[in-house]
Amino acid sequence: MLTQPLGLPPSIDATDDGAALIDDIRRIAEKELTPLAPRIDREGFYPEDVLREVGDAGAFRQHLPTALPDGTGMATTIEAMAVLAEECLSTAFLGWCQNACAYYMEVSDNGFTRQTLLPRVAAGERLGGTALSNPMKAFSGIEPLILRGEPVKGGYRVSGTLPWVSNLGDDHFFGAIFRAGESNRTVMALIDCGWEGLRLSQNVSFMALEGTRTFSVRFRDVFVPEEWVLADPASSVLPRIKPGFILMQTGMGIGLIRASIEIMRRADRTREHVNRFLDDRPEEMAEALSELEEEVRTLAATPLETDGAFLRRVLQARLTTSELSLRAANAAMLHAGARGFVTNAAAQRRLRESYFVAIVTPALKHLRKELSDTA
Ligand SMILES: Cc1cc2nc3c(=O)[nH]c(=O)nc-3n(C[C@H](O)[C@H](O)[C@H](O)COP(=O)(O)OP(=O)(O)OC[C@H]3O[C@@H](n4cnc5c(N)ncnc54)[C@H](O)[C@@H]3O)c2cc1C
Repeated sequence: MLTQPLGLPPSIDATDDGAALIDDIRRIAEKELTPLAPRIDREGFYPEDVLREVGDAGAFRQHLPTALPDGTGMATTIEAMAVLAEECLSTAFLGWCQNACAYYMEVSDNGFTRQTLLPRVAAGERLGGTALSNPMKAFSGIEPLILRGEPVKGGYRVSGTLPWVSNLGDDHFFGAIFRAGESNRTVMALIDCGWEGLRLSQNVSFMALEGTRTFSVRFRDVFVPEEWVLADPASSVLPRIKPGFILMQTGMGIGLIRASIEIMRRADRTREHVNRFLDDRPEEMAEALSELEEEVRTLAATPLETDGAFLRRVLQARLTTSELSLRAANAAMLHAGARGFVTNAAAQRRLRESYFVAIVTPALKHLRKELSDTA
């Protein structure tokens, strides 16, 4: 069923040193990613080599509970994504896609994917993503579930079209959820982009995040074998996946906010006398960021917790990440002024990127709805 032979899996190293890993990621980001960021943004260049390099360094395995069971790994993963986002939000988002894909396999009880595919995804050897926006919105009562799987001998035949899924390619994998037949039961499975009946197409271009290999994915009677089912019913694992899924996204925003503050500080070197009349000053933003980082670190210590009060704190931290990203990137643009308005300026790219933090599922409006529904 695999499109490419897997061979022997690499082991998931349980002895990574978080601080050393972050130094490695920073070195890779500054050396490889800084010069590439404008190409990724403007030409839609997909930073595959950078992804593989940070994966090789260990960026996609820290959050796996069996790799580092002491609870420090999730915070390290979030920080690694933040370091990438300081340079380029597209790459940080791709890192999140990869991490989410690995997390689904890790948290599910499926021994086959955990033993064969997970070590490769965790090492950045095989790349992958996640198609959970629609199910997340469906479970929050925002829209109906798109994919439908008819039970057949040995698995399901799945049909439906998902508008956007990122970090895909011919030999990539992604996690998805479909409704089982006419029942209300939902099933979570890992999907191989090379399976018969699956078609990826790129029918739009985006105002940012263009280098994320984001495709519309059409399933036409795609056979999903039982071995690739991660959870049936999906509800048996989703409560454990959801906090980590959402918390890992905060890394994208944290890095973007840091970069925006840096733009403001740089602009202040010559324009402080007039920038000080602006609303959101770098010191205020830095203080708000530091509070957010502390909350995220606390929550990241127990990502598998399923308690309702814990989930609300996670949703609130993610909401604060979106709100602060929008504010900080807007302030960076205003601080940078005309210099930030030219096409290769970081300020205008950060402003466009900040909207992604606020619209990728769970979007700002989705988070506010869920917080209101569970109040
Ligand atoms: C660059 C990019 C990458 C993304 N990557 C992923 C990913 O990897 N995995 C994933 O599951 N989701 C992905 N998404 C989807 C994202 O997480 C949101 O679900 C999506 O942006 C819609 O959220 P919304 O809150 O605006 O939806 P709502 O405001 O509730 O409604 C908009 C609805 O229309 C749908 N739609 C379909 N076609 C279009 C269209 N042409 N224009 C506008 N809306 C359309 C949207 O998907 C959505 O369901 C990506 C989106 C973008 C822009």
